[in-house]
Amino acid sequence: MEIRNLLRRFDGKAVVNDVSLAIKPGQVTCLLGPSGCGKSTTLRMIAGVEPLDGGEIRVNGRQVAGDAGLVPPEKRGIGLMFQDFALFPHLSVADNVAFGLKGPRDEKRDRVRSLLERVDLLRHIDSFPHQLSGGEQQRVALARAIAPRPGVMLMDEPFSGLDNRLRDGIRDETLALLKEEGAGVLLVTHEPEEAMRMADEIALMRNGRIVQSGAPYNVYTRPVDLDAVLFFSDAN
Ligand code: ADP
Ligand code: MG
Repeated sequence: MEIRNLLRRFDGKAVVNDVSLAIKPGQVTCLLGPSGCGKSTTLRMIAGVEPLDGGEIRVNGRQVAGDAGLVPPEKRGIGLMFQDFALFPHLSVADNVAFGLKGPRDEKRDRVRSLLERVDLLRHIDSFPHQLSGGEQQRVALARAIAPRPGVMLMDEPFSGLDNRLRDGIRDETLALLKEEGAGVLLVTHEPEEAMRMADEIALMRNGRIVQSGAPYNVYTRPVDLDAVLFFSDAN
């Protein structure tokens, strides 16, 4: 997926300004920056739930948003995980994971079982969300998002609601599963530590713009300016 020169204005002010990103199969690109810098707006434009004021988005060379019009969100081959993207409370774990799946019933059942096994929740296949812990719910949400084999997974601060004790384990599990499935990932976070841990590539954002991008080690050891130094050190 290629994101080029995205622009979004609210009340005449550009909150996303000339943002370009590449999301590659099997790689995690991390959009990192302080609260309010425009990360979620960028992600919503990519997801197709926020209009563009400029720029374009291409998937495998085909424009899905831009001057040629709009491909609706459900046809973009995108999976979504948000902090507050809740499971359907009235559906079982199995039905939650099967929700976005099409095709023969047997195939769907096999896909659901293998994913639940993969996230170590097969014993909860017939449970309901309220019977699970926060971390377990998060793993079901991951299985649900990855089930239709999206080419790109968009994640907006998906681990912020979890306590510290759980977070590292779930981060590592999530990363391993996404890599196995070969999805390209765009991970939005305001935590440098999370970006350093998970990203193949970091795009550092500030005031609507990407001010620096590169491998985590390079971004961390060669900060572009004093604000970047402060941003990285604030969190420690
Ligand atoms: P982040 O996710 O980095 O915290 P957001 O993308 O949510 O930042 O917001 C970027 C800026 O755009 C903020 O100043 C926010 O107040 C503003 N903003 C976001 N959505 C809207 C909207 N629908 N109308 C007006 N301003 C908005
Ligand atoms: Mg946000």
